[in-house]
Amino acid sequence: MKKLTDTFGRNITYLRLSVTDRCDLRCAYCMAEHMTFLPKREVLSLEELEQLSGAFIDRGVKKIRITGGEPLVRRDIMTLMARLGRRLEAGEFEELTLTTNATQLVHHADVLRSVGVKRVNVSLDTLDDEKFAGLTRRNALSKVLAGLDAAQAAGLKVKINTVALKGVNEDEIPAMIAWAHGRGMDLTLIEVMPLGEIEADRVDQYLPLTAVEDNLRTQWTLTPLEMRTGGPARYVKVEDTGGVLGMITPLTNNFCAGCNRVRVTCTGQIYMCLGHSDRIDLRAALRSEKPDAALDAALGRAMLKKPERHAFDISERGAAPSVSRHMSVTGG
Ligand code: SAM
Ligand code: SF4
Repeated sequence: MKKLTDTFGRNITYLRLSVTDRCDLRCAYCMAEHMTFLPKREVLSLEELEQLSGAFIDRGVKKIRITGGEPLVRRDIMTLMARLGRRLEAGEFEELTLTTNATQLVHHADVLRSVGVKRVNVSLDTLDDEKFAGLTRRNALSKVLAGLDAAQAAGLKVKINTVALKGVNEDEIPAMIAWAHGRGMDLTLIEVMPLGEIEADRVDQYLPLTAVEDNLRTQWTLTPLEMRTGGPARYVKVEDTGGVLGMITPLTNNFCAGCNRVRVTCTGQIYMCLGHSDRIDLRAALRSEKPDAALDAALGRAMLKKPERHAFDISERGAAPSVSRHMSVTGG
């Protein structure tokens, strides 16, 4: 089998695939209030998404995470999940997962489980109704909580992702960890990253997780865990709750040496690193006369371009984002 190996000897075994740039929420750190979304013809069709996923599976990708935008707002998403589920069942790759805001999860949890999804990541930054509405510019916390109930009832393992935001959910973080662990869900904290133009200044949102961790240690015992996922998260066990806490610290801690992933946008642009603007157009390859050969060449070029490490910087007030595209474009 032809593998995807970059110039630093890292094997790419993890694909994050965005299936839409659209979303039913407008999280303040992720999107502007009034976003212009892509016309449909720009976005990969269901068949193209399937073909592309297949190309990665054929080259040794073992884990595929479907993301967005909000993946569950795409109407034909469950058809893609079912088709990928068949390849999963056949043992062609090892894990199919999803990152979602959970507003629609109540309608999809059972089907997700039935096509072979075992775990989902749910993004949730506050349990306070008003704060949620302020932060996401939509009144949808009750739908998210119903989605979580449905996911757990369907037997999906849930991990909560929480972006740590200065002065917004800072005080609520210990309570959210205790709540998640009390329901048998792990929780991972994420530092806000400078991706895309938004209304607020990133310096005002940025809360270093080192400060959060110091604060947690005043009330809890945190034991470092060895577990790594090839990604940027570090994990600790919170002895007092019995649960696992992850911390994604792109700005205070460099995690690039073990990077095993690439991201593909809903328009088929492959980004080798979240923190760089370099990309290769896989859609052009897919829509060319000889898609298989063109895709093979494009993926080869992509491997030559994967950089050694990211280049985020958030220290300068008023600075333009390090990377101009929004997280909802690249896929979280
Ligand atoms: N809509 C889905 C969701 O919210 O889970 C999937 C896509 S969303 C872009 C994926 C993740 O990216 C979410 O956990 C979100 O909190 C995170 N995210 C978005 N913008 C971010 C930023 N500027 N810095 C850090 N995390 C961000
Ligand atoms: Fe939508 Fe997810 Fe971005 Fe929030 S973080 S606006 S839910 S894509």
